Amino acid sequence: MAETHTFQTEAKQLLQLMIHSLYSSREIFLRELISNANDAIDKLRFRALEDGSLLEDGGGEFYIDITVDQEAKTLTVYDNGIGMTEADVISHLGTIAKSGTAEFLEKLTGDQKKDASLIGQFGVGFYSAYIVADEVTVLTRAAGTDQGVRWVSKGEDAYTVEAADDLPRGTSVILHLKSDAEEFLDDFRLQSVVRKYSDHIAVPVRMLQDVANDSEPAAEAEADDEDKTPEQELQAVNSAKALWTRSRSDVSDDEYKEFYKHVAHDFEDPLAWSHNRVEGKLEYTSLLYVPKRAPFDLWNRDASRGLKLYVQRVFIMDEAEQFLPLYLRFIKGVVDSSDLPLNVSREILQQDDRVTTIKNALTKRVLTTLEGLAKNDPEEFAAFSNEFGEVIKEGVGEDPANKETVAGLLRFASTKADGEAKTVSLADYIDRMVEGQEKIYFLTADSYANAAGSPHLEQLKAKDIEVLLLFDRVDEWLMSHLTEFDGKSFQDVARAGLELPGDEGNEDEEEAGDDPLADRLKAVLSEQVDEVKKSSRLTDSPACLVLGQFDMGAQMRAIMAASGQSMPESKPVFEYNAEHPLIQRLDSEADEDRFADLATLLFDQAALAEGRALKDASGYVGRINRLLLELLSD
Ligand code: ADP
Repeated sequence: MAETHTFQTEAKQLLQLMIHSLYSSREIFLRELISNANDAIDKLRFRALEDGSLLEDGGGEFYIDITVDQEAKTLTVYDNGIGMTEADVISHLGTIAKSGTAEFLEKLTGDQKKDASLIGQFGVGFYSAYIVADEVTVLTRAAGTDQGVRWVSKGEDAYTVEAADDLPRGTSVILHLKSDAEEFLDDFRLQSVVRKYSDHIAVPVRMLQDVANDSEPAAEAEADDEDKTPEQELQAVNSAKALWTRSRSDVSDDEYKEFYKHVAHDFEDPLAWSHNRVEGKLEYTSLLYVPKRAPFDLWNRDASRGLKLYVQRVFIMDEAEQFLPLYLRFIKGVVDSSDLPLNVSREILQQDDRVTTIKNALTKRVLTTLEGLAKNDPEEFAAFSNEFGEVIKEGVGEDPANKETVAGLLRFASTKADGEAKTVSLADYIDRMVEGQEKIYFLTADSYANAAGSPHLEQLKAKDIEVLLLFDRVDEWLMSHLTEFDGKSFQDVARAGLELPGDEGNEDEEEAGDDPLADRLKAVLSEQVDEVKKSSRLTDSPACLVLGQFDMGAQMRAIMAASGQSMPESKPVFEYNAEHPLIQRLDSEADEDRFADLATLLFDQAALAEGRALKDASGYVGRINRLLLELLSD
């Protein structure tokens, strides 16, 4: 008896989206099904290392067969891989287990083009069958079990599952093609698509091919031709050699790109790749890809990451995350080692010195690939920075050995670049430092607008000194790790101790002396500020807030708070611009209440300019309104 189940909500949504937004590149369904079939074979090959009985009678011969039935209008992809039990079928084909799926689906817009690329970031998969099929049947029997399963669905709300007998080991996916997808019944069309998507796969992908019958005398054959269909048998249509085992010069760019789509389940071409064989004390081959776009779950702690690990061509595991550092978690690809044991486990990988050596080498490879991209194709690199710049920043803290290289890959917005696009490298910055400049100046804020409009920039702009504008949420953390680049130290322009080229006696060593205005201000603002000082930073603004050199900034405080550690807030220094008319007017204010009101207003405004939240926002509004009323009643 067939049991009816409904799809998990997310699965249903994804299925519908898939059908609508990928319509224009629908042949990719075949790539996805062949990929799944190949993975299923890889899994069985691996499991059979421990338990040979899983191979049943078929021995170790593996294949993927693609057949069509012209009358029934079906296309079948069969693999003699690991197969699925009933429970597998329900959980793998009826639900989507990736965390963050619901959030991902919310981002979809209904705009086909945009959604298609978003779906690419998510991974396309089995449901892509419904781009071309109005009904899909899956017949499958898990290796080592007797009972087969039949799964059928039209890809709407529900699917049915029932027992099926006499199935061969593995999985058949039978697509009943939509009437406008019958081109995939055409032998010629099908073969070209299959070749395109399966040439790099190590398993033979077979299709029915005519066999030439040489033993038949030519004359007889001619006489019979009318009513005899040529004999056919299943023959491999691909070269069935794993792509990374071939030499670089034998692999075309298109093949590299296709292979990327297979390993990464991505929809778009990769941005760059690096394919290398290493011989010597350790022998391994790696093929690493830089994707064009960040996966939807880049920031999800338990998102899948890592390379496909092979040992002597045998697939061992997906997502071997031990071969790359966390900040390169977006890199996809394959590592094939000749030295690791076939029964290697994740636990072993974690402690193995060989793995550490490979990891260090692969890290360098990726960084070199990115440096090459930055040098040869700045535009592509800008796109890369846009997608992955924030993750790369983690490397500055995470990877001390490559800190300088990683820092060299970072790109920033700056007072000498247009808008908020991050395009300036530290090397660019150093190249155009003004005469006498020793330090790299930067400012962190919570948005580009708050950085670009900060009063702290006034004096630097006046002196034509460039300031890097940092507004990613990790930037304060980044700058606590990045203290030097190319021998130059960094200086936060919003902190105490700002020295500018050409400054002799700088503000921190300003002559001590009476400053009655500072004393008056301090008396009013003592709760909020640590000190009050005459400023040399400002040209246009009346006042600003300056953090102590080692005080924790707002971003770091938020990071600490998120991890449950609340930090006492350090009070800033209030600096005023003695030349500013507002300050001069304040200085001459005799009414102490009014002085206090105005001083508090100036403090609040300085805080707002930093992007800080006001402690007493309604007090601020009240004061402003009193002033506005005075102004209007004049
Ligand atoms: P993904 O491959 O990204 O996990 P899919 O939607 O393509 O997502 O497939 C979901 C799951 O269904 C796979 O992870 C696998 O466990 C199972 N599956 C799909 N096709 C096959 C197959 N031919 N043989 C065995 N299992 C399969």
